[in-house]
Amino acid sequence: MIASNLEAIYSELPSDVKLVAVSKYQSEACIMEAYQAGQRVFGESRPQDFLKKAQSLPKDIEWHFIGHLQTNKLKMVLPYVSMVESVDSLHLLREIDKWSKDAGRTTDVLLELHIAAEESKQGFHEEEILDIMFNRESFEGVRIRGLMGMATNTDVQDDVRADFGRIRAFMDYLRDLFPEYGDFAELSIGMSSDYRIALEFNPTIVRLGSAVFL
Ligand SMILES: *Cc1c(COP(=O)(O)O)cnc(C)c1O
Repeated sequence: MIASNLEAIYSELPSDVKLVAVSKYQSEACIMEAYQAGQRVFGESRPQDFLKKAQSLPKDIEWHFIGHLQTNKLKMVLPYVSMVESVDSLHLLREIDKWSKDAGRTTDVLLELHIAAEESKQGFHEEEILDIMFNRESFEGVRIRGLMGMATNTDVQDDVRADFGRIRAFMDYLRDLFPEYGDFAELSIGMSSDYRIALEFNPTIVRLGSAVFL
């Protein structure tokens, strides 16, 4: 089941789009089923669960943290992640930067842009991201790799399209503004319900949970 889901998804994804299999509600057995089918990139959003999984599952798994991260949980999460996709405040960015410098590492992050109509969703506004990008050299412990966004939860496809169009346009704007910053290239958009729409906007990462595991 999981293997055939993955096969179907990969047949639809362009080869340069990375699939993050969102395993936040999944048992280790289910994750191993996906692993055995060849999947190596997984996404988690709850620090405690993530820590357990990261410690017991194979070491060649590439873990992306995709949930809201409280700074008091950083120490639990950062040693095991290859990317934090959900940096949604300056405070969090600063704390990740500080932890990384203390640990002698750099942490790859995406800045989450608030694109949905729901106010409850997390994320920066465009001006805040611009400020960070102009000051990115003050964050020596993080490598800002791109943007992440979540579209409005709606059946109205054109509303979803408008959200993804907005983040795509902002990504292109930033790439033009900072052409020397080649590390800044990732666009993570698309979940199970809307990744086909996201694919119209050339993401580099999609994050799929139920499409993989259900
Ligand atoms: C849970 C989650 C996903 C995956 O959601 P599905 O609808 O199961 O594909 C993607 N991104 C984020 C940030 C999530 O929290």
